[in-house]
Amino acid sequence: MRVTLSQGLFLSPADKYGEIPMDFTARRFDTGQWVRIQIEGQWIARIDPVSPSEGPKEHGPWVAPGLVDLQVNGYGGQEFSSPDLTVKKVVEIALAMDQFGVVRFCPTITTNSREIMEHAVETIAQAIRENMGVARRVAGIHLEGPYISPQDGARGAHPLAHCRPPDWQEFEQFQKAAHGRIRIVTLTPEYEGATEFIRQASAHGVVVSIGHTAASPEQIHAAADAGARMSTHLGNGCHPILPRHRNYLWAQLADDRLTAGLIGDGFHLPADVLKCLVRAKTPARCVLVSDLSGMAGLPPGRYSTNLCELEILPHGKLVIAGQQELLAGAALPIGAGVANLIRFAGLSLSEAMALASEGPLRVLGMEPVRLAPGQLADMVVFHLEGSNEDGRNSELDEFAQNAQMSQNGPDKWNGNSRINNFPENTPHPSPMSQEKRTAASQAGFRVLATMLGGQVVYGDLP
Ligand SMILES: [Zn+2]
Repeated sequence: MRVTLSQGLFLSPADKYGEIPMDFTARRFDTGQWVRIQIEGQWIARIDPVSPSEGPKEHGPWVAPGLVDLQVNGYGGQEFSSPDLTVKKVVEIALAMDQFGVVRFCPTITTNSREIMEHAVETIAQAIRENMGVARRVAGIHLEGPYISPQDGARGAHPLAHCRPPDWQEFEQFQKAAHGRIRIVTLTPEYEGATEFIRQASAHGVVVSIGHTAASPEQIHAAADAGARMSTHLGNGCHPILPRHRNYLWAQLADDRLTAGLIGDGFHLPADVLKCLVRAKTPARCVLVSDLSGMAGLPPGRYSTNLCELEILPHGKLVIAGQQELLAGAALPIGAGVANLIRFAGLSLSEAMALASEGPLRVLGMEPVRLAPGQLADMVVFHLEGSNEDGRNSELDEFAQNAQMSQNGPDKWNGNSRINNFPENTPHPSPMSQEKRTAASQAGFRVLATMLGGQVVYGDLP
């Protein structure tokens, strides 16, 4: 970090947690240009281009608006949907998001008894009232369930005993306990009365997201007619086998009113599926989510939970203990999805970042944070890494850089022109070879620093 003078006072780097003018140099995520960003108080004061000779090393850090995660179930051994949730735990989970470059997130409460869900929303609302740090980071509560499908496969790991049809009175009770903080509700439109519920929720400013569903294509479109605007982790929480044509996946892919939430950890959606979903929806209608499990953040090993024995494998895959394939939740942060979108779906860094920042804010009806003077200094500074230990000259970074350089054209996703953000000789359709993709799926997005309202809340500025 550079030390600057303000009104004749010498300011030391130790003041980084205070409101002091400070500046740092990094590459813009959207143009690849080296810039010096100056921050004053909570705001970005200046952004000035830096000539390469002045600039640091060729492969330096990237800077972008901070990430926004619409689906976080917990962290470090604590689920939000739990009778044991306390204000202290909420604070811990909220602050843990800093290390991932996440500046806003939605605590997500999964299907449970009315008492437990009410306790969870109440506790989160209390944490927001009592703790500025939580208030700053929580964009709203996501209620994932309990109005989801009871069918095996569709309901995923949500307990069957608590899956139930939408109940507006109950939801109002949740919303009251949450002091109005519920911003997203995931439900299935397969129940009778779902359309009316969707209408009500939408009219009250709650985003209705379709998920854990066994609905027919007609019910999916009727839900969108009634106001549903999102699909929760599309492609997951699904039956293992579906009718090839008439199914809820095609209906959600085809309905342009629905923005698809995608788990980009490389495990929940195979590379080919992630790529096809993004292509079909277009990046403008996709957002990344981590869907972090409460088990995320624990070291690799075996753990007992209320449901079953789980295992965190060395590369971060969270599985049912004793095998390698059956997933038990997500353990990688949203940034891993940014790296995977570049690798698997051929997005530029700029496009991939939009799915983890601007897109989620748009879903919530919030203003996107831009990298421009006068904007709130909520930022993430990061390296893109390949599978090798030292990521600085990594392949992924080169890849992002090249993609950034040759990116042009206003909207290459409209019309039928082939995306043009790869160097001339890059083969298509696989931006990276299969071996490289497999190796690379373990690596990705390394956060160097997270800034929230002008304060460095994690790491150090370059
Ligand atoms: Zn889910």
